[in-house]
Amino acid sequence: MIKKALPSGCAVCGHQDDLFICSGCKALPYCGRDCQIADRPAHKAACSAIKKARNVMATEEQKLRHHPGDVMMSKDPFTSCVGHLLGGGGSKRATTYTSLPYLDVKDADMFESVERFCHPFFDLSHRTCVCLLKIRLLLELVRLEQSTDSLGPSPHPVISAMLKSPTPISSAVGASQAIMSSDSNTRKAMIDTLMKQIDALYEAVQKANEHFWYNLTDPEVDLDNMPSSCTMGSVGESQLAVGNNFFTWVKTSGALAFIITPSS
Ligand SMILES: [Zn+2]
Ligand SMILES: [Zn+2]
Repeated sequence: MIKKALPSGCAVCGHQDDLFICSGCKALPYCGRDCQIADRPAHKAACSAIKKARNVMATEEQKLRHHPGDVMMSKDPFTSCVGHLLGGGGSKRATTYTSLPYLDVKDADMFESVERFCHPFFDLSHRTCVCLLKIRLLLELVRLEQSTDSLGPSPHPVISAMLKSPTPISSAVGASQAIMSSDSNTRKAMIDTLMKQIDALYEAVQKANEHFWYNLTDPEVDLDNMPSSCTMGSVGESQLAVGNNFFTWVKTSGALAFIITPSS
């Protein structure tokens, strides 16, 4: 585990001027040969480990850059995935580190089509994350509405309950001009779109793995005892996906209830 950040000056004496970077790991700064040689015994193992990791990363990056594109990922994801919220940039990591263009999900389309996430070979865990993100967005839109008027004659029971307990709106929704300045009709259309997308994802998850929704809501699943490998559609795959996602679902108020409550 990394216990402290890399030094800002020379790794040995802390000197700030005329620094050069170790040519092996390209990570540690030194002020001169003397400090570098003095640090050699302590730094040797870390240096070669970092160098090895860099090489692996460079190879993987080249593979991604020359990827021809398939159902899981578009061609050259570093360019083509810029601004996509759900394909790989939907994680907290991506919203935190936005200096690289393909990790920047600001202004991404939160209503992005779910079609490719419904493909039978799409990763189960990723698909369920996309489903949860859509549910979160839906629940927030509903809270914004604060009224059942735009939800039709018989809204989902969980949605009706949510209206009675308004909670703060997330920064992602709060920052979206399209949502915050929308009128009731536009929001109704957004809610409608999301309901259809969630339905499609729910069905796709059910088709790909009939155990997942049951396992997600079944407290008997042993989260500390996950299988190390699994096949598609198996109980093991479902357990792994539940293990990866369970706490995110639980922490999203209303999400589990939304999945297990039958609509009226
Ligand atoms: Zn030094
Ligand atoms: Zn080094």
